[in-house]
Amino acid sequence: MSLFFDHVTLGQRVLFGTGAAAVNLAAEVARLGAGRVMVIASDFETPMARTVAAGIDVALWHHEVVMHVPIEAAEKARAAAVDAGIDLLVCVGGGSTTGLAKAIAMTSGIPIIAVPTTYAGSEATNVWGLTEASRKNTGVDDAVLPVTVIYDAALTLSLPMDMSVASGLNGMAHCIDSMWAPRADPINAALGAEGIRALNRGLPLIVQDPTGAEGREQALYGAYLSAVAFASAGSGLHHKICHVLGGTFNLPHAQTHATVLPYVLAFNAPAAPEAAARIAAAFGTADALTGLQELRKRLDAPKALSDYGFTAEGIAQAVNIVLPAVPASNPRPATTENLTRLLQAALTGEDPRVLLDL
Ligand code: NAD
Repeated sequence: MSLFFDHVTLGQRVLFGTGAAAVNLAAEVARLGAGRVMVIASDFETPMARTVAAGIDVALWHHEVVMHVPIEAAEKARAAAVDAGIDLLVCVGGGSTTGLAKAIAMTSGIPIIAVPTTYAGSEATNVWGLTEASRKNTGVDDAVLPVTVIYDAALTLSLPMDMSVASGLNGMAHCIDSMWAPRADPINAALGAEGIRALNRGLPLIVQDPTGAEGREQALYGAYLSAVAFASAGSGLHHKICHVLGGTFNLPHAQTHATVLPYVLAFNAPAAPEAAARIAAAFGTADALTGLQELRKRLDAPKALSDYGFTAEGIAQAVNIVLPAVPASNPRPATTENLTRLLQAALTGEDPRVLLDL
């Protein structure tokens, strides 16, 4: 990789400590001098959020969280924040909850403290996403980057095993896709590689010891690095595909990323030897796909898009939407034929190696 690049580092405070979220949140709210705090958490996430918010005064609770942030849900939350004179947003939950806070920040400029409870990584990016008329739109706006992220591995202990695995592989997808994304550079590649190493260490530990802190901490650390790499490098082919599967076909975010990743890696690796070598080194394996597949086997990872509601009838439409969005930086030129083959393989859970020499 040439050492001639233009890199932007986003400014954000990160407080990391198992069991420390409530104390850290109270200190941050005081430091920021906020007077009217809105806490966003889905119904399911609310008990966790109440524990985290035990040391602060909450002016408004908001529970209407929907995956992929439909515009109607965003507008309702925006109006509630403005009506209540809110000056700080605190989101406690997964990427959907963070996404709703971002939708409010986007139009109001109200700062966010994010307390993530999955490995989605939205808290460390300046990317927003909104779904309107079955199309998911995303954009970049520094106003949606949380000013502070509070990581507490204890909050991820309740994440069921299948969701821990899928969400952790969503983080892995940020790392791997960063290697050939439009703004890939040596700094985000280094962060992505360290993210692969941390997730490859943490996720099997979670499977072995679901109630232990070490695997959860490694996975959260890896998820943060993955998101910083992704925010810096931008969306590569993998994100373009998953974005369409989520936004147009309403497939679940983390499981879709977990399923599609080995297919994109097999598709791109032969045309990106430097990236593939770096990914392999981070896994500690001879080649990149072997590293990912060995991890996926240990985790019993999601295998086929058909398990999440995708059907062969959707492939042509998905390819039509993905193709014009494929970044010019993608190491292998995408065509209708090869993207169709990629999605056919991911649909049924075929061995990704069929894509190596398309
Ligand atoms: P999610 O937020 O929808 O959460 C999935 C489920 O897990 C929900 O039912 C939630 O209530 C539950 N959950 C969350 N934390 C839990 C916990 N600790 N214990 C038990 N259950 C818990 O899913 P996600 O994968 O975290 O986020 C997906 C969304 O985030 C998508 O909309 C995606 O587009 C967005 N996202 C955005 C970015 C970005 O940079 N803008 C990055 C990654 C993801």
